[in-house]
This record gives sequence, structure tokens and C-alpha cells, in this order.
Amino acid sequence: MTDFDGRPRRDPAFASLRETFRGELLGAGETGYDHARRVWNGMHDRRPALIARCLDSGDVSAALRYARTVGLPVTVRGGGHNVAGTAVADAALMIDLSLMRAVTVDAAERVAVAEGGCLLSDLDAATVPHDLACPAGVVSHTGLAGLALGGGYGWLGRKWGLTCDHILAAEVVLADGSVVEAAADRHADLFWALRGGGGNFGIVTRFTLRLRPVGPVYFHTGVYSLADAPAALREYRTFAEKQPSDLHTIGAFKHAGQQSWIPVALRGTPALFLTAVWLGEPTEGPGNTGPLFDAAPPAGASARVMPYAELQALGDHSEPHGNRYFTKSCYLADLTDDPVAEMTASADEMRSPLSCIDFEYLRGAIADVPEADSAFPRRDAPYIYTVSAQWTESSADQENIDWSRHGVRRLAPWQYGGAYVNYLQDEPSDAVIDVYGQSRYSTLADVKRRYDPDNLLAGNQNIVPAPSSQRR
Ligand SMILES: Cc1cc2nc3c(=O)[nH]c(=O)nc-3n(C[C@H](O)[C@H](O)[C@H](O)COP(=O)(O)OP(=O)(O)OC[C@H]3O[C@@H](n4cnc5c(N)ncnc54)[C@H](O)[C@@H]3O)c2cc1C
Repeated sequence: MTDFDGRPRRDPAFASLRETFRGELLGAGETGYDHARRVWNGMHDRRPALIARCLDSGDVSAALRYARTVGLPVTVRGGGHNVAGTAVADAALMIDLSLMRAVTVDAAERVAVAEGGCLLSDLDAATVPHDLACPAGVVSHTGLAGLALGGGYGWLGRKWGLTCDHILAAEVVLADGSVVEAAADRHADLFWALRGGGGNFGIVTRFTLRLRPVGPVYFHTGVYSLADAPAALREYRTFAEKQPSDLHTIGAFKHAGQQSWIPVALRGTPALFLTAVWLGEPTEGPGNTGPLFDAAPPAGASARVMPYAELQALGDHSEPHGNRYFTKSCYLADLTDDPVAEMTASADEMRSPLSCIDFEYLRGAIADVPEADSAFPRRDAPYIYTVSAQWTESSADQENIDWSRHGVRRLAPWQYGGAYVNYLQDEPSDAVIDVYGQSRYSTLADVKRRYDPDNLLAGNQNIVPAPSSQRR
């Protein structure tokens, strides 16, 4: 075993870690190290001092105690999808949960228990055969833990709420290595903070999740030229803001593909896509999605009944591992003609054919949960807007980053305030205060002080422990 400079690792603390650790410990140059340090965003080529690939909460606890003893900074890897690459850092200990992906389902109780390294696909693979699912994100290779701890928007959000609203309990390894169960009646302050506060308060090794009934959905999508986008979005706005909770709509500006339903003239050009998914009885789908496309007739459209599992994997191929990504995001107060003109201009100026601008109307069940019930902020935000640059060559980094930044900055007059913590990339550290607002941030900082007073878990969108002489 070597350290990150390739020297043999000889410290006694490491010898004792190795004696009890059940998973894999990987140092630089060892087989598997280069694979394990890689994360989804190819922009982050970082070299941890040590990678601890854990098998259970005992391993996580031992790894954390080791880091504390030798003074190594810590990062935590769930699915490795965070665009900021917070799962990995140079010269740190990476606590990697990607070998912990078991899920069990109690279909009668509509509850799943999922380990902390699960991907969304692991969870769906276990629950969907029972016609059940936990509401989660739209790309199935995203990690459950990072997504759920930061919030978790997805197709079922307006109908059932966020992923974090479905956490019933969590097994958490605290920074001091102890293992606790957080739930409404146990460590209630920790349970509150875990639901929206990100990976600041401990390492979640097991989630207990409420499941919801799911079945086939009616999926309807239409494409528009950029010239037609402003008129189409005028209709979208009116439609989306009145949609029932069984209907979820998403808009995206991206380069049109080669599918037969897309007019030849639009293929390969930046275009607007509007998508409406009816989550109720599929036969009622056309009657519910149709009015949007009647009001805003697309240049081409496709509609069909789709299994829920297929819906969950629809985004999987457009955002592959290893490409370079830069994301800026904000909430929008409205989608009136002026912001739409700016959005359409951004689409026209897209630097890479792999990039995407997307937006969706939120509210519904997300906003029905009282703001005080969990750490997740800004539940009443009307729209979320994300400018995601994706490209392959490092020589194109700057132009793509600039495009993404400008895409959100130009919408400043219509922003709602704050941002989604899981979409922060390289913001200054006070952006985290802005995410939560000062009062909520202060409460989170108090919880952080109680559970991680030394800020061992700082490799995240960091909440700094509130200063105090009181320690747990
Ligand atoms: C292609 C793509 C699609 C996405 N789609 C959606 C979407 O539809 N909806 C949505 O809401 N978000 C979406 N996201 C954002 C996603 O929520 C975040 O990227 C999230 O951080 C991913 O979680 P992860 O476990 O894969 O992250 P990782 O990169 O593994 O970890 C990120 C951070 O999460 C924390 N963390 C991870 N695991 C644990 C754990 N077990 N215990 C404690 N802390 C932990 C750590 O602080 C870590 O630094 C998407 C991201 C991508 C790349």
C-alpha cells in the first residue's frame, strides 16, 4: 500500500485500519485506483491520498476515524455524479460507498431500504417490479445519496414531492465515527438537516424511503424551431402554471437529433423541446397533454405510453460519464417574454452540440410541504432553470464555461433568489448561504456544530459549524 506520492504507507494507524477494514483500500498506482478516483464530470482529474471502498457502516466509521487520526481531509462518494466533483479531492481520503448498493423492498408497507452508495437505477430496479418507486431524478446513473440529501427533483416531484421528502429514516456515521439512526423521533435535528442540507452532517450508509405507486405513463413531446420558441413558450407558461399534479412538463433547448418524427430541417440545429408526461391513467393522457400542443403546435411530435422504468432512464445516454461539464442554475420567478428572449438567445449561442438548457415548472407537492419541516429551501420557487454545458476537449473549456455562466447571469432580473444546492459548481463559499438564506443557514450551522464541530466533512457545499464553546 502506497501513499499518494507512491511511498509505502507505514503509519501505525493505517496498519490498524487495514486489520479491520472489510472493503478495499487503494493507494496511488494500485490496481483499481485510477478507476475509483474517476467521477462523472471529466473536468475533475483529482488524486486522493487514499480511497476507502467501504462495505458497511463499520468500514465507513473506521475510515473516518483514520482520517481524523492522521489529519487527512475527507470526501464522500455516493454515485460520483456531482457536477462540482465534491466526491474527490487531491490528497484527501475518499470514502467511497459505491460497493454499498443493496436495496430491499417491503411492498406491503411501501418502504425501501437502500444503502448509501445506490444509484437511482438500483433503487428503481428493486421497487418498480412492485409498481412502486421513490420519486427521484431524471438520469438513472445519478447517485441516490447526493441527490436525496440535497433535495431531489424529478418527474414525480409535483405529484409526490422531492426525494428528501421520502426519507423516513437514515443510518448515519457521524464525524466522530459513531453510528446513529436519524428519524422524526430520533436525532430530530439531524433528520431535519439531512433533508436538504447535503452531505454536511454525517455519512449516510442506509436510507429508509417511502415509496409511491407507479405505472406506465403517457409521454408526449414536441419540437419547435428557435424562431417559434417564444410563441410556444407563451403557451407553455399559461399551460404549465395550471397543470394538475398528475402532469409534469419540462422544456429544453438542445440540438435536435435524427429521430424520424423530427423534421429534417431541424435535425442537428438548436431547437426547443416541450415534453408533457401524464402520470395518471394512461388512457387519460392525450386529453391532458393535448391542450399544450394544440395551443402551441409543434413542427414535429411523438406520443406514446411508456413504462415508468423507461421514463427514468430516458436521460441516461445524453449525459455520459467522462465528458466535460459545467452547470449554472437558478430559480426563475416567471417565464414572460423578456426572459424567454434571453433564453432563446442563449440557445442560439450554444458552443457545443452536446449542451442543453432546461427548465421546468415546479410547485405542486414540492411546495405543499411546510418550509419548516426540512432543511430544503425555496419550496415555492416557480421555475428551475439550468444551463448545462457539455463538451469533450479541454481546449474548449473556457468558451463553454463562459456560455453557461452568461446563460444564467443574463436572467438576473427575473431570478427568484437562491439556487439548487446540487447544481452549484464553482460558486464562492458564501453562495451556500444564499442557497439557504441567512436564517436557515444559521440553523444548519448550529446542527453542523453539534454533529461535526471540526468540519471534518468539508468536501461538499460546505456549511461551516457555528462557533461555540459547547461541544457534544
Ligand atoms: C446527469 C445528471 C443528472 C441529474 N439529474 C438530477 C435530477 O433530475 N434531479 C436532481 O435533483 N438532481 C439531479 N442531478 C444533480 C444530483 O442531484 C447531484 O449531482 C448529486 O450530488 C448526485 O449525487 P451523487 O451521490 O451521485 O454525488 P457524489 O458526487 O457521489 O457526491 C456529491 C456529494 O454528496 C454527498 N454525499 C454523497 N453520498 C453521500 C452519503 N452516502 N452520505 C453523505 N453524503 C454523501 C457528499 O457531500 C458528496 O460530496 C443530476 C446530476 C447529473 C450529473
